[in-house]
Amino acid sequence: MDDYYDLIIIGAGITGTALSYIASSYSAMAKILVIEKYGKVAPLNSDSTNNSQTLHFGDIETNYTLEEASHTKAAAERVIRYTSRLSAKERGKIISKVQKMVLGVGDAEAERLEKIYSPGMRKLFPGLKKIGKMELEKIEPNTIKGRDPSEKVSALLSDKGYMVNFGLLAKSFSERASKSGVKFIFNCPCTDVHPIEDGHEIITPKGSFKARFVIFASGTYSLYFAKYLGYDQNLSILSVGGGFYIAPRVLRGKVYRVQAGGIPFAAIHGDPDITNPRITRFGPTVSFPIALEVRKSGTAMDYLKTFDFDIPTMQSLFNIISNKDIRRIMRKNAVYPLPLIGKHLFLKNEVSKIVPTLTLDKIHLDKNVGGIRPQIIDENKRFLTTGASKIRGNNIMFNITPSPGATSSLQSAMDDIVYICSLLDIKLNESKMRAELGAMDYKHLKQKINGHKQI
Ligand SMILES: Cc1cc2nc3c(=O)[nH]c(=O)nc-3n(C[C@H](O)[C@H](O)[C@H](O)COP(=O)(O)OP(=O)(O)OC[C@H]3O[C@@H](n4cnc5c(N)ncnc54)[C@H](O)[C@@H]3O)c2cc1C
Repeated sequence: MDDYYDLIIIGAGITGTALSYIASSYSAMAKILVIEKYGKVAPLNSDSTNNSQTLHFGDIETNYTLEEASHTKAAAERVIRYTSRLSAKERGKIISKVQKMVLGVGDAEAERLEKIYSPGMRKLFPGLKKIGKMELEKIEPNTIKGRDPSEKVSALLSDKGYMVNFGLLAKSFSERASKSGVKFIFNCPCTDVHPIEDGHEIITPKGSFKARFVIFASGTYSLYFAKYLGYDQNLSILSVGGGFYIAPRVLRGKVYRVQAGGIPFAAIHGDPDITNPRITRFGPTVSFPIALEVRKSGTAMDYLKTFDFDIPTMQSLFNIISNKDIRRIMRKNAVYPLPLIGKHLFLKNEVSKIVPTLTLDKIHLDKNVGGIRPQIIDENKRFLTTGASKIRGNNIMFNITPSPGATSSLQSAMDDIVYICSLLDIKLNESKMRAELGAMDYKHLKQKINGHKQI
C-alpha cells in the first residue's frame, strides 16, 4: 500500500529529524515519513534564534542533580560524535568550541559553587576547574571590569563548551535521512489521528497516511495529541517562553549564572551568537504565555486543551507559584518585556551581574526571537518535572521536549529506535549505531518494552 509506512514522525524539529536519521541509518525500516506543519526543517524551538545554542553537558547547570548531569553528558557526547564525522565545512557551521563557565556572584553563590564542585562532580567532569577573580580577569575580562572590588566572584570553568546551531544540525539529520529514502512533506499539519487495526492513521490537508508506529515529535504539541488520544491525563504543560536581549560582543564565551536547585528552567546567561559573532545574547527571559507557539496567539485554545483544570493540577500550580525561587523569577521577569523600565531592570538585575560595565544604550530586546519550553506539570508529583518526557501508547509515542531537548535529540532518537524496533520486531544494527554514536545501556529500555502494557 502506497500510504502505509513503518514509521510516521510528526514534526521536523531536531527531535523528529534526529529520529528520521537514526531510523533510516541503523534500522531495517523500509518506509519512513516525516510530516511538518510549516515549510522547512526546524521552524520553531529548534531554530538557532529561538534557543540558547548550548550543548549542555550538566557541568555548569547548577540546577541538575549528579544523575541528570551524567545523562546529559552522555547525550551531548553523541552530538560530538555525530558532528565529528561530518566534513570540516559542514561541522564548522553547526558546532564550534567556546569557553564556558558558571559565574557565582556574592558569598551565597560562591558557597553554592563550592558545594556543587563535589568529588562526584569532579569525577564526572575531570576538566571542570574552579577559578577566582584573577583568572576570570584574564579569560573573561568584562566579567570583572568595573565590578565593585569588595564583591566576591568565582566560577567553574568547563572544558566542554560548545555552541551549536541546532537548526542546522536538524537540517543535517534531515538531509542524511532524505538520502536514505525518508520522505518529508512540508506545510502538512497533522489535524487528526486515530488507531487502526495495525497502527494509526493520521489525517492532514494533504491526505491521510497510515503507519505501524507513529511518533509525535511535535514539541509543545506532543502532549496535546497524547491527551486527544486519551493518554496521560495526569500531565499538563506550563509553557515557559524565553526571549533574548541583544548587546555588542562583550563576552568571549558562555557565562551562565548559578541557578536555584530543582527549578527546570535555567538562569539568564550571556553568550556569543553562533550565527553572528559580533553580538552577545543575554537570556532567556522567562514568561508564561497562554500559547503553544510563541508569537502565535492562535494557539491559545490548543494550550488550554493540554491543561487539566482539576484539583491536582491546581494544587500543582499552587505549589509552583508558592516556590519562593519561582516567585522571584516570575516577579523579575514580568517586567523585562516592558518598554523602558523593563530594559533598565534587566540591565540592573541580570546583565550587570555578568558584565558590570554594559550600559542601557547598548542593549535591546529582540522581540522576534525566543521560543517556548514545554515544562511538564506532573499531577502525581504536584510540581514541575525536569527534562523531557516520553509517553508511550499502543504503537504510538509522544516526545515532550523542554531544555535540553536539542542536546538530547540523538539520545532520544536512539532510545526510541531501540524501543520501536523491539516492539515491531524490526532489525536494528545496534553495533554500527554504538560504534558511530557511542555505547548505550538500554537493558533498562528492553525490560520496559517486555513489560510494556497496552493502555
Ligand atoms: C529559550 C530556549 C532556550 C533553549 N536553549 C537550549 C539549549 O541551549 N540547549 C538545548 O539543548 N536545548 C535548548 N532548548 C530546548 C530546545 O530548543 C528544545 O528542546 C528542542 O528544540 C525541541 O525540539 P523538538 O524538535 O522536540 O521541538 P520543535 O523544535 O518545537 O519542533 C516541533 C516541530 O513539530 C511541528 N509540529 C507541531 N505540531 C504539528 C502538527 N500537528 N503537524 C505537523 N507538525 C507539527 C512544529 O511545527 C515543529 O517544527 C531551549 C529552548 C528554549 C525555548
